[in-house]
Parts: sequence; C-alpha cells; structure tokens
Amino acid sequence: MVIRTGIGVDVHRLEPGVPMWCAGLHFPDEDRGLAGHSDGDVAAHALCDALLSAAGLGDLGSNYGTSDPRWAGASGAAFVEETVARVRAAGFEIGNVSVQVIGNRPRLAGRRAEAEHALSRAAGAPVSVGATTTDGLGLTGRGEGVAAIATALIHAL
Ligand code: MG
Repeated sequence: MVIRTGIGVDVHRLEPGVPMWCAGLHFPDEDRGLAGHSDGDVAAHALCDALLSAAGLGDLGSNYGTSDPRWAGASGAAFVEETVARVRAAGFEIGNVSVQVIGNRPRLAGRRAEAEHALSRAAGAPVSVGATTTDGLGLTGRGEGVAAIATALIHAL
C-alpha cells in the first residue's frame, strides 16, 4: 500500500468586528475574529494544505486563488470538503489528519470534541485537534494572530 504524509501551516490576523471561526466552529463570544478572503479558519486551512501536500496537489493558494469570488467568505468546512474531493479524485483515501492551533484565543479546550467532530465530518476521516500557546512570545503570543499546523496521512486506493 502506498502511504503518503503531508504538512500544512496557516496564519491569520486577528481583527475586531470579524466573526471568530476556528476549527470548524463559531465562537460568538470572541470580540475579534480571523481576517481573510474566506472565514479565516486557520485550522481548516492548515488541514487542507496538509492533504494537498500529501497528495502532491500543490497548496491552498494554487488550488483556491484569492481572486476567485467563489471562495470569498467560504467556510473552513467548505474548503475541507472540496479538498477531500480533489484528493480522492487524484486516487487517494484519507487516513487521518492531526491539527494543532497556536494562539491565545479562542479557547479550544472546552470545545475540542466539538471541533474534532466538525472537522472529521467535513473530512470524512478522523481529525484530531489540539491547541497550544507560545508563552506570550511571537505574533500569536502578542495576540496579533492565530496559527495552525497540520499533518495528514493518506493512502493510494
Ligand atoms: Mg488561510
């Protein structure tokens, strides 16, 4: 069996007045959200990049240009569903994906199971979600943005 791994990273800026979407969930109590052409869901985007890299299909930017109005405001789940369809069309099945969110906000700990359920449903495969902070250091520690890193394992059909 041909097994392949991939890696993905994403960062979005935190901005006031923007709804906070992260790891497939809306956080209505957050006063800042992740700015971007889409909903800025760093976890979903890192997940997609990990899948695309595992399949050798390029990256998020080469698959979904920011000039394409179809993806303006698109949800993280929509990107995950479309990416999984492209990976499957290339002849692969998803094994699992692991995502870690790096930042002070939103607090994912209390909604981790919910996030795993949302992303696993979108990916059609097990997605585990973790979170960490950076001891006040760097862009995530200063609260300028939120980052995510993901790895994916896929196998040829
Ligand atoms: Mg992104």
